[in-house]
Amino acid sequence: MRNDYNDMVSNYNEHKRYLILNIVNHLGAVSRTRLAVLTGYQPANITALTKQLIDEHILVETGSYSAGPGRKRTLLEINKNRLCAISISFSVSAITFIVAQFDGTILNEINIDFPKKLSEPDFLFHIITHIRQLLNAYQEKTILGIGICTPSNDPASYPIARFHPSYPRLVDWIHKVLLPELRKTFDIPASVFYDVTLAITAAQNFGAARGVNDFICVELSNGIGCSICCNGKAVTGANSLAGELGHTVVGAGGTVIGAGGTVLGGGGTAHKLCYCGKPDCIECYSSFPELVKCIRGALKHNVLSKLAIEPGSPITTRDIRLALEAGDQMCRYYVRQFANSLGIAIANAVMLLNPKLIVLYGHMLELGDYFLDTLKTAVHENTSLEMEVNITASPELEKLLPLGAAAEIFSLYLKRDNYSWVYQLPIMTDETGGMG
Ligand SMILES: [Zn+2]
Repeated sequence: MRNDYNDMVSNYNEHKRYLILNIVNHLGAVSRTRLAVLTGYQPANITALTKQLIDEHILVETGSYSAGPGRKRTLLEINKNRLCAISISFSVSAITFIVAQFDGTILNEINIDFPKKLSEPDFLFHIITHIRQLLNAYQEKTILGIGICTPSNDPASYPIARFHPSYPRLVDWIHKVLLPELRKTFDIPASVFYDVTLAITAAQNFGAARGVNDFICVELSNGIGCSICCNGKAVTGANSLAGELGHTVVGAGGTVIGAGGTVLGGGGTAHKLCYCGKPDCIECYSSFPELVKCIRGALKHNVLSKLAIEPGSPITTRDIRLALEAGDQMCRYYVRQFANSLGIAIANAVMLLNPKLIVLYGHMLELGDYFLDTLKTAVHENTSLEMEVNITASPELEKLLPLGAAAEIFSLYLKRDNYSWVYQLPIMTDETGGMG
């Protein structure tokens, strides 16, 4: 009986603690008086609870607020400089470790080459060593957890498999080997998050979508992907594969005419087979590798171009941007075609989902204004009704996945899912919220 009672008291105190943390997190800066009003707890109780959170370096006092003549109130906020997370993300070429603060500031970023072959023990040792070094380097911070970004949970269908033979096994390995090992080795929580939702989490927490409940993030890079946020929640789909915008078909393929008049796709004349097995996916007409293929084809046919490329050397986004800026006809032709196809696909997503905002990210944005402006025009020209949608480019979003994993770690720490109602509270510019 005695134990039950103690458990109840400690659960109740824990609830109070997380309620306060979530209110402070949502409102940004808040006085003890307002915390008392919002929670209904006695002021003395609020004082004791917040003192404990300050002593633990989780909250900090930050400036003061004038609540009327002679009345000053100290504001409290989350100790953003102190609370941090480590996240790990895997791409075909590199493994990225970041240390991110609670406000999304990246304190450190380490990129190491993705090993050509997975020699498991070495690979694992490598990762553990890097995490240990980061934990040592940031001892004065409070590292709340380790977040791992993985591709969707169906490795066989994951398109990156075509670039890297060991990649499909990676997802399995992360769950069965890496995660248990991290949990065993370090005394902080470790969790795995699927990339389909991480762009949403990062854009909501640190990016352009702060305070927006209906938006999509579109990745423009070697693949074309889309993350969907409806009603404040990320849409994952039945197999965590929602948002495969790149594998939707626009018309019979946007007609792309290759050098020498070859019809590369669309128009019912010729088709491109996508690596997913279907003909004419939008990715065949809009991804960066396909753009490079078209441009290479034209150069091979001796089409006049201002693109200065040594034969055999890679064509980068920067090379193409410089050619576009110099008014290169051939590059403009292909980039216009690609941006148009993409614009139609994104407009279709807009008509289906009615988002308020589209956040574009990925290295194709480095193609510059010509690409972006053409894309925006194509989206607007292909939407109708009253779909008032804003389009914003977020170059920082290359870091979206690791930042998203950090944000998820912070949410887990705050037990945010249990306090989702707190995030419906209106944010007042007047700190008291009119409640004195
Ligand atoms: Zn496809």
